[in-house]
Amino acid sequence: MSDTPTRRTILAGTFAATSLLGLDRSFAQVPIGATPECHDADAMTPRETEGPFFKPASPQRTELLEAGMAGQPMELVGFVLSRHCKPLGGALLDFWHADDKGDYDKSGFRLRGHQFSDADGRYRLRTIVPGAYEGRTRHIHVKVQAKGGRVLTTQLYFPGELKNRSDGLFRRELLMRTADASGSLAARFNFVVEAG
Ligand code: FE
Repeated sequence: MSDTPTRRTILAGTFAATSLLGLDRSFAQVPIGATPECHDADAMTPRETEGPFFKPASPQRTELLEAGMAGQPMELVGFVLSRHCKPLGGALLDFWHADDKGDYDKSGFRLRGHQFSDADGRYRLRTIVPGAYEGRTRHIHVKVQAKGGRVLTTQLYFPGELKNRSDGLFRRELLMRTADASGSLAARFNFVVEAG
């Protein structure tokens, strides 16, 4: 199909920026792979509650990891797709999550940031693995919106978490695929949203 991403790999392009911050952390290069698996093309990414900690007007950035920040580094990559598997460039993705102790930054924008998918519908987020907190399993909040489309608010989950079983919000369809790679967690998730 000509409108799907070809086999390619996203190479880490911001090592320079990382070293400027003096971070002694290396990220795995997460292969974003071939055409997304779209056998479920009609299934939109499920919506979930926004929760109490969303803040509008987050900074535009793909790197949430800051110097001195505790926690395991993590890189999340994927595509924003229409229900027909068409990659959606210019889609807004706004991420927010807890720190490694399970606390949200309520006064500032630590571990909060928005970005836009590239022309091929790809996005990439570098951050840390959030901590679980009272009553919740480990998760990342996100709002995704295709250009001119409706905002989809949802949450992403980590495989292999014991608390996934007891968290009433947990949904298997919102599990990221993850792999450990040299100390950092490589994660992947493709969003399927209404095209604008
Ligand atoms: Fe939360």
